[in-house]
Amino acid sequence: MIANYHTHTWRCMHATGTEREYVENAIQGGLQILGFSDHTPMPYPNGYVSPLKMRLDQLEDYVTTVHSLKKEYENDIQILLGLEVEYYPAYFHNLLTITRAYPFDYFLLAQHFLGNEINDVNSALPTQSEVALKRYCMQCLEALETGCFTYLAHPDLFYFVGDDAVYEHHMRMLCQGAKELNIPLEINFLGIWDHRHYPNLKFWEIAGQVQNTVVFGADAHQPEKVWNPQALKTAKNIVNTFHLHLTDTVTLRSPKIS
Ligand SMILES: [Zn+2]
Ligand SMILES: [Zn+2]
Repeated sequence: MIANYHTHTWRCMHATGTEREYVENAIQGGLQILGFSDHTPMPYPNGYVSPLKMRLDQLEDYVTTVHSLKKEYENDIQILLGLEVEYYPAYFHNLLTITRAYPFDYFLLAQHFLGNEINDVNSALPTQSEVALKRYCMQCLEALETGCFTYLAHPDLFYFVGDDAVYEHHMRMLCQGAKELNIPLEINFLGIWDHRHYPNLKFWEIAGQVQNTVVFGADAHQPEKVWNPQALKTAKNIVNTFHLHLTDTVTLRSPKIS
């Protein structure tokens, strides 16, 4: 593993440490590329504040901090400026208008909520609803089709506990869509070391059949997690078990506005 594109900062309110500590840990672990991709701020309506994302008024400081580290450490590691972005149709255009003022290298897609977040389904809560599962897959695909996203983070975040055949049907469509668009899927290390419901082996079996390209993502919310040999071992097992195509580095896609 020479690159990790999935790194958070304290601004999302559920990560710890300084940006510098993440960089130092990445260098110690032998990474050549470290991408910061904190949870994006969103132009929510009516003063809504997400408890899990940075605020819009923190964006400037985020960009400035990452860029100054990029310059300071340029001889040791390549630092990239990204965001982990939810695709919310109601706010997406406004978000692009805001973020285009900054030199973002890439967006990762992560669909933690369906619809536009507020008062809608949380992808990580167990459900037997096929309607919700289908919405998750369709919303991810619609997002990927915008061309704004470098890869899909924890594609198996949606916690479906219903019929296996139903899961397979919808997730296969998501995997096929990602493959047609040539967009990698992430095996998420946070899910591994935190013993979450993902990585979901049922999902990775499908991705193996579809022959998706996969990338490892630390999803580090603590500096020492930016490099995680235990999770790496488990992730490599998943790759080998399902004959997945692993890529070390990804083609960066930065959002464009029409
Ligand atoms: Zn997070
Ligand atoms: Zn993340």
